[in-house]
Amino acid sequence: MWTKLQNTPRKRAPRKVAVIEPGRCFGAFACSICQAACPVADCIVEEKDADDRWVCAVRIDKCIGCGLCVTIGNPTAPGKRDFGCPGDYDAIDMVAYPDVVEAVEAELGAGESAAEAEPVTA
Ligand code: SF4
Ligand code: SF4
Repeated sequence: MWTKLQNTPRKRAPRKVAVIEPGRCFGAFACSICQAACPVADCIVEEKDADDRWVCAVRIDKCIGCGLCVTIGNPTAPGKRDFGCPGDYDAIDMVAYPDVVEAVEAELGAGESAAEAEPVTA
């Protein structure tokens, strides 16, 4: 298990959250650099994609929007960081939180709130 700085619930919703494109992820157990970079406990998790491949996914209820997991050079990254998703894959983008919630709720179907349904990954 990685050492994490933040183990308590976040205090407010972030402006942006990280979103992993499963088709670009090298593989959760083969790489997991994003999990090492993320300072929040249990924020980036492993889940199966549509092809039954284990990939990483971000829990939108946990992400604080720091951008530490994003590829160096990715234009959506908020600032300088030591390392993130390898440039060959560049699987992670920072996306506006309301847009992510809307997309997840559309996927969940009417009547379910992404903010309340935990854990929800994007
Ligand atoms: S932006 Fe990335 S590193 Fe930062 S909390 Fe979210 S998933 Fe973790
Ligand atoms: S760093 Fe990128 S390629 Fe590696 S597991 Fe995370 S999302 Fe996948």
